[in-house]
Amino acid sequence: PTSRDLGFVWESELILEPGETAAKEKLEKFCKKTINEYQEQRNLPSIEGTSQLSAALKFGVISIRTVWQATLKALENSCSVETKVSIHAYQQELAWREFYQHVMYHFPELAEGAYRKAFKNFPWENNTEYFQAWCKGKTGYPIIDAAMRQLNQTGWMHNRCRMIVASFLTKDLIIDSQWGEKYFMQNLIDGDLSSNNGGWQWSTSSGMDPKPLRIFNPISQTQKFDREGEYIRKWIPELQSLDPEYL
Ligand SMILES: Cc1cc2nc3c(=O)[nH]c(=O)nc-3n(C[C@H](O)[C@H](O)[C@H](O)COP(=O)(O)OP(=O)(O)OC[C@H]3O[C@@H](n4cnc5c(N)ncnc54)[C@H](O)[C@@H]3O)c2cc1C
Repeated sequence: PTSRDLGFVWESELILEPGETAAKEKLEKFCKKTINEYQEQRNLPSIEGTSQLSAALKFGVISIRTVWQATLKALENSCSVETKVSIHAYQQELAWREFYQHVMYHFPELAEGAYRKAFKNFPWENNTEYFQAWCKGKTGYPIIDAAMRQLNQTGWMHNRCRMIVASFLTKDLIIDSQWGEKYFMQNLIDGDLSSNNGGWQWSTSSGMDPKPLRIFNPISQTQKFDREGEYIRKWIPELQSLDPEYL
């Protein structure tokens, strides 16, 4: 059967070339240059500062050990403290993936909802109109809308933006994190039960991570990570002519 017969209808171009060869080339290119600036650039959604290997890792197209070995080689070749710090930062992200896989294995009940008891019967407001606005990228908050449109149009969203939109859904709109988790799984090309669940529970403050309640302010996040509004303008064409201060 074709992918269309199986129900996968995809209008836009795929952002990634599928297959092991393509994934290995991506890894090699990333380890030659971008990994050395990862610490600085990974938080800026307007640039390609991350490896974009998540879909390949999720589907086993490339092995986590292959990626880890490549980072060790990059460490061997690095000669400044800054690049070493960057490579370590990348390794830590790989470790988050492993952590979430392990906790899902040992605590499969995580898939059903919050790990922390205080969140088990949380009084979510679950306004369906707000939820639809969030899904479509029509909340009126530029950074939220840009991120949701990136997801809807490409099947991928930058990690910084995943954290911002998840915080916004759960802590500003007071909508059940499982609604957001489900929407992400339906739309992400790297949609992965463990990492997605871990990311949502981290953002909701309902998971294993003991840090206190975090709330990401969409405005200050924009000022820090999309200062010139490049990311917003890319995904929200109707705001293209606005100056950064208004964005
Ligand atoms: C709410 C939310 C939902 C998420 N859902 C998913 C998901 O369904 N699938 C998924 O693979 N990642 C998920 N992530 C983690 C992260 O956003 C993506 O892995 C990352 O954006 C993928 O881009 P990259 O390959 O360029 O990442 P890079 O920055 O290049 O990182 C390299 C690899 O490390 C792993 N990784 C990086 N950050 C994380 C993280 N925070 N948690 C777990 N693994 C990480 C990924 O496998 C990634 O490919 C989620 C994060 C949040 C906050």
